[in-house]
This record gives sequence, C-alpha cells and structure tokens, in this order.
Amino acid sequence: MPYVVTDACIQCGVCIGGCPTGAAQEGEGKTYIDPAVCIECGNCEQNCPVSAIIYVESDGEQAEKSAASSAGNSDTL
Ligand code: SF4
Ligand code: SF4
Repeated sequence: MPYVVTDACIQCGVCIGGCPTGAAQEGEGKTYIDPAVCIECGNCEQNCPVSAIIYVESDGEQAEKSAASSAGNSDTL
C-alpha cells in the first residue's frame, strides 16, 4: 500500500474527485485509499491541500518525515 491517508485529512474530497480509478474513497473520520485499485499516479498526493496523503515505501514501514520540525530553532545572526 504505497499511498496512505494520514490523520491530517480534513475530508475535503479533493482527492476523491481527482482519483482516476476511484481508489480514494470516503471513509469514517477520514478518507482512505484502496490499494487494490490505486495505480500510484500521485494525483491525490499532489492535490491534497493539507498534505495528508503520504507515500509509504512498504507495508508496515511508516514514512518518518514529520518529526523534523520541532528541533533546532536557532536564529543567530
Ligand atoms: S495515487 Fe492516483 S490512483 Fe492512487 S489513490 Fe491517489 S489519485 Fe487515486
Ligand atoms: S485531499 Fe487530502 S484532506 Fe482532502 S479528502 Fe483527500 S486526503 Fe483528505
């Protein structure tokens, strides 16, 4: 399952409307992507206004990109 919807989803429906295969569907609480019909075109990831859709390399392996913003706030100069 390469593309997954995270909890950041606000259910705006943009990805559902832009998905060519109907893989992006409305779920309970957040949108979800059906990996069985997703062709990995990337439309949903690019169109999501809140970047709620992420690409996961392989099953069970979460992309850890979000933890890099809280550390290192040095404004020296
Ligand atoms: S990557 Fe493409 S086919 Fe897969 S859910 Fe997103 S828009 Fe649909
Ligand atoms: S485009 Fe993003 S915020 Fe909107 S429904 Fe899809 S995943 Fe959720």
